[in-house]
Amino acid sequence: MRFGILKELTEKRVAITPDFVKKLVAQKHEVVFEKGCGANSALADVLFEEAGAQASDRTEVLSSSDVITTILPLATEELSNVKKGAVLISQFQPFAQAEVCETLANHGLTGFSLDMIPRSTIAQSMDVLSSMASISGYKAVLTAANYLPRYMPMLSTAAGTIRPAKMLVLGAGVAGLQAIATGRRLGAVVEAFDTRAAAKEEVLSLGAKFVEVEGATDDRGAGGYAVEQTEEYKKRQSELIFDKVSKADIVITTAQLRGRPAPLLVNEDMLKAMPDGAVCVDLAATTGGNVAFSKHREIVKQHGVTIIGNSELSDDVAEHASQLFSRNVENFLNVFLSEEGLTYDFENEIIGDSCIVYQGEVRYGAPALTK
Ligand code: NAD
Repeated sequence: MRFGILKELTEKRVAITPDFVKKLVAQKHEVVFEKGCGANSALADVLFEEAGAQASDRTEVLSSSDVITTILPLATEELSNVKKGAVLISQFQPFAQAEVCETLANHGLTGFSLDMIPRSTIAQSMDVLSSMASISGYKAVLTAANYLPRYMPMLSTAAGTIRPAKMLVLGAGVAGLQAIATGRRLGAVVEAFDTRAAAKEEVLSLGAKFVEVEGATDDRGAGGYAVEQTEEYKKRQSELIFDKVSKADIVITTAQLRGRPAPLLVNEDMLKAMPDGAVCVDLAATTGGNVAFSKHREIVKQHGVTIIGNSELSDDVAEHASQLFSRNVENFLNVFLSEEGLTYDFENEIIGDSCIVYQGEVRYGAPALTK
């Protein structure tokens, strides 16, 4: 089979790195790459060539590859240039992008959505959501530190003592936990909140304080994802969060609800109550944002607070983000790729759930996927 690697149009990352190219070539597959695809991830063309891939231009990669993997989905306009019957692997988010399956099907393609791989123990090694979220959580804290006109750690100097920064993390999933760990390493006093009961123990184990709201809806059976909460709970949560936000130098928000808009956790009144110079980093910006005024890839200042909206902060650590993404894709393909090509066993949960379109037929939403 021929594998294609493209330069991402809005990202620094690249979906397949030379390490994986070597393994594909050893398996007797061909690999073509668009020149410059890894340039922003510290991966020069020569590294792809040394690994056994051939340099090409975008049109040729699109029209000649049997399998194309990208970080973000190709634009619809480019799909007509893709080889008929090809397999596209990307993060299609079919639960949020209503038309994506139909579009792939209309072009007669097969689509695998990496974000649909079940978040089970067996599939952990192919979980791009976790790999990227962890990097984003780390980078969110470094970005906040850059914009904060204060130190993070406590310092005792001859000129006096500096108090440590107070950091609040809202949403203690993969990104939030990495943000807590990074904030703690930089010396901040960290508090965190999550609606999932299981998050408490993880927050405490990282040396942060857990902000507890009584009466959360039971989330067991939601596959590790957060569930919608009652109005009463949301009111109590909002009052407690108001108090915590109003004292924070840094607020990192990561709260997402799969397939639905992100909950607004920091409203305008809270921003007004925050100390001047405070910084909010909103990792949920693409799904509506957890912070009032936040916009993806924009930095705005409101009521003296810098609000940084960015759901793709992992892209700012492009080399390692590419390395981990590529490793995740390799582990995923190992499930069904051999020298002969791809074997589609839809009884296998990993294949069945992630294959959203098969040879022009929409599979997303099929009974096997909604079990
Ligand atoms: P996510 O990106 O969907 O959400 C981030 C966090 O925001 C979650 O912890 C969620 O509970 C929280 N949240 C949602 N609404 C909130 C609200 N109103 N207020 C505060 N917090 C809110 O989640 P994620 O980080 O991708 O993962 C969530 C869980 O899934 C974690 O427990 C993680 O450990 C688990 N997980 C398991 C596996 C696996 O077993 N393979 C892989 C990845 C994640």
